Amino acid sequence: MKREPEGTDITNEPQALPQANEIWQTTVHWQPTETQQTQFQTLYELILSGNRQLNLTRITEPNEFWEKHVWDSLRGIASWQTAPETLTSGQTFPSLPISASAQVIDIGTGGGFPGIPVAIAQPDWHITLLDSTRKKMAFLDTVITALGLPNVATMSDRAESLGQHSQHRAHYDLALVRAVAEAAVCAEYALPLLKLGGFAVLYRGQWADSDTQALKSAVAQLGGAIAQVVTFTTPLSQGIRHCIYLQKMARTPGRFPRAIGIPVKQPLV
Ligand code: SAM
Repeated sequence: MKREPEGTDITNEPQALPQANEIWQTTVHWQPTETQQTQFQTLYELILSGNRQLNLTRITEPNEFWEKHVWDSLRGIASWQTAPETLTSGQTFPSLPISASAQVIDIGTGGGFPGIPVAIAQPDWHITLLDSTRKKMAFLDTVITALGLPNVATMSDRAESLGQHSQHRAHYDLALVRAVAEAAVCAEYALPLLKLGGFAVLYRGQWADSDTQALKSAVAQLGGAIAQVVTFTTPLSQGIRHCIYLQKMARTPGRFPRAIGIPVKQPLV
């Protein structure tokens, strides 16, 4: 018997993502507006259809998509400070301590994660989605138009090149890096792009104290420091996640990032 692909019902209609207002409220002290919920749903449907041509994600079942792509993307930018207990739909997302009209870059965005959910939740942030795969960026251009997100732009380039480009080096308040490379490599991609005082969020799965110790020297060489390590569980499947928050404390030496491919071949230690 032919099996239907996950995320589609028998009529091939995409299913609805969960609304999950209570989970949003208890985990990040925020709820999406109706418009934002519709944007998440449209994003889901566009990713399912883009998946037919491009290998964007293997996560297609609606609850899993919501938890691992939408919720996880936003959990990473949630404030680590205590947020107010009761908020209603439409209120500002309680984010990291950065400016209201921040310049943000999502390095190795792939199918648009975490950058697109972040752009939906934070319409005043200016978000650049960066990936070396041109086809994925062309697809994301159509997604951005369909979602009506004037605050997002795409760039098809390598993080190593962008970090040496005068228009991008030290230009961003926040860099997001999820599922791109090992932590020291992500740090070398992100820190040169940050302004002094800016933050990088490394989205990780398993993480131990020894990983924090091992990352310290690489981050220090790049002019950064580890500001916070936050552990959390995902709200539906109780998976363990970590976000490593780096802060840029000093200018990154000009030799970083090193040439294309070198950070991966010889990660900083
Ligand atoms: N961040 C997305 C997510 O979490 O779903 C996509 C992760 S995907 C596994 C890794 C992406 O990083 C790929 O699309 C790849 O092209 C991109 N990538 C890897 N190294 C890169 C680099 N040096 N510069 C720009 N993009 C890079």
